[in-house]
Amino acid sequence: MVPVACRVAAREEIAPGTVSLTVGDCARSVGVPAPGQFNMLWAPGVGEVPISLAGRDGDDVVHVIKAVGAVTRALCALQPGDALGLRGPFGTGWDLTAADGHDVLIIAGGLGLVPLRPLIGEIVAHRARFGSVGLIIGARSPSDLLFAEEFAVWGAAVDLEVTVDHAPTDWTGRVGVVTQLVDAVSVDHDDAATFICGPEVMMRFAAREVLERGTPADRIQVSMERNMHCGIGHCGRCQLGPVFLCREGPVVPWARIDASMKVRGR
Ligand SMILES: Cc1cc2nc3c(=O)[nH]c(=O)nc-3n(C[C@H](O)[C@H](O)[C@H](O)COP(=O)(O)OP(=O)(O)OC[C@H]3O[C@@H](n4cnc5c(N)ncnc54)[C@H](O)[C@@H]3O)c2cc1C
Repeated sequence: MVPVACRVAAREEIAPGTVSLTVGDCARSVGVPAPGQFNMLWAPGVGEVPISLAGRDGDDVVHVIKAVGAVTRALCALQPGDALGLRGPFGTGWDLTAADGHDVLIIAGGLGLVPLRPLIGEIVAHRARFGSVGLIIGARSPSDLLFAEEFAVWGAAVDLEVTVDHAPTDWTGRVGVVTQLVDAVSVDHDDAATFICGPEVMMRFAAREVLERGTPADRIQVSMERNMHCGIGHCGRCQLGPVFLCREGPVVPWARIDASMKVRGR
């Protein structure tokens, strides 16, 4: 439960209000998260929040953080050399073995691309292991698209579709929600290992689209990034039905949460 003291090795604002932080040495001694897992990052004197693995920079760990409240604002304000605390790695990662020899569909909405990025990197690096691969990325606007400089490499290896909710007049790409693009990528849904991350409502609709096309619920993995506190299944803050998402998630097969996701809140 005690965070290890670390320092910021590098910092870059990669989209408005969204910062990439490279965390040096100590991240290695704590342990490097697998794609889909997360660390608890502690902004000294402010608080601690769960943040997914966004990538590796050599032996260092990269986290991408959007400033939405007190802790994420404090983390985003850190500069190279500043101190932060880190606990982890926590949670389940993406099960890429489910995709071996099969078609793959990846659907990312907004910040949901962060935990999917290391998975996409693995797929692109070992492309021959998989059948057809469709990658659908959505964001609010073109300036909110994360990792856009990597799209050329990804698009050369997989069937990539990018869309935004709202676009300025000079945008020549697609406009609309990610679920409209499920048929724009050529993937055999009966067979595909499907990976989804984004806002919860988007994941619900995206899962429904692929279920309707024949993908079994246990072949759909989602990352349920619900508000968490302890990260070790004690506090119950992230509980969804019988599932403690910090320990049994954040990556879970849709089949495990389907019933709970149908329960209406009051
Ligand atoms: C497993 C996991 C991985 C995550 N990975 C990342 C990541 O890689 N990058 C990143 O920027 N963020 C990530 N998040 C979200 C991040 O943890 C929250 O944004 C953070 O906890 C907000 O804390 P705060 O003190 O800055 O703001 P708060 O004051 O706690 O919250 C600000 C606003 O954001 C809402 N909020 C807080 N947490 C969440 C959440 N989990 N989902 C939806 N809304 C929320 C609050 O309800 C409130 O409206 C992840 C969350 C989880 C559970």
